[in-house]
Amino acid sequence: MIAALRARNPIKPGKLRLGIGDDCAILRPNAGDELAITTDFSLENVHFRRDWHSPEAIGHRCLARGLSDLAAVGAKPMAAFLSLALPKELTARHRGKPAWVERFFDGLLALAAKMNVPLAGGDTAESPAHKGKAGLVAADIVLVGGVKRGRALLRSGAKPGDLLYVTGPGLGGAGAELLALERNPSRFTALKVAAPGHPHLYPEPRIAAGLRLRKRGLATAAIDLSDGLSTDLHHLCGESGLAAEIDATVVPIHPMAQLAEAAGWARSALQLALHGGEDYELLFTARPQTKIPRELDGVAIHAIGRMSKMRNGKPAVTLLEEGKAVSELRARGWEHFRGSSSD
Ligand SMILES: [Mg+2]
Repeated sequence: MIAALRARNPIKPGKLRLGIGDDCAILRPNAGDELAITTDFSLENVHFRRDWHSPEAIGHRCLARGLSDLAAVGAKPMAAFLSLALPKELTARHRGKPAWVERFFDGLLALAAKMNVPLAGGDTAESPAHKGKAGLVAADIVLVGGVKRGRALLRSGAKPGDLLYVTGPGLGGAGAELLALERNPSRFTALKVAAPGHPHLYPEPRIAAGLRLRKRGLATAAIDLSDGLSTDLHHLCGESGLAAEIDATVVPIHPMAQLAEAAGWARSALQLALHGGEDYELLFTARPQTKIPRELDGVAIHAIGRMSKMRNGKPAVTLLEEGKAVSELRARGWEHFRGSSSD
């Protein structure tokens, strides 16, 4: 498998001096850069289901989670590392058809090529059957990125009065697509190639937008939306020691969330936008006087609220809705069938 991966993943000259095939990968960061490093599990029946998700989508999502964390700090991806445990039968071809694991790498490497990040190493192991049950797939992805020393975007940098922004075409799309997927998985099995408009199956990590936010000094703090706006905003507030108010009338709502509401799959599209996880958009803050463009690298930017000082006895995050009293917005990021958070 290593030789096959090496052939598909040629080393490009640049930050990666040495990749798959030796004992270690060797990275050479730019002088004056710091390394940003993030690791994320993708576990069968926790983060994906093999009877719902195509192998290509699982590979794409595995890498996208790590890339989204690099985007959140404004880092440029340098290399990815993958440790993969899987049952033996997933490495075998059936009647000449590609093995599950080949298709997993099709999805992962397609996104890697698009984002110009080499898969620079990793490990594979057999996930053994246990008590008559087939072994489960477990993938642990590590992403390394470079960021100018002391310039990474942090969750802790927001100031009172900062405005709160979110990237992308709208929130709640990933949660809505998951609701559609669990109702009719067979409708989605043919989706073997990343296509826009599939926020759950093929999320688009906001690497370019994160880089621009950092390089142009636009943002004071940032986080990626993995657990859902309500939960991730609490993380940002906690690290910055601030409160926040969201204006529900300007929160962008993904069209798929509107469809999920119309179909009766979700209580409301707004609830999906506030609490549905895995949108992988960026949530960031900026000084009120900073001019934030309407879009960054083709990705829309929406102002959705404001940061303020924490007040004793007052909730950290509140929601302003038309015709209603201001209410507390609790962290209720969706758990789906996941057992863990996904920072
Ligand atoms: Mg994160």
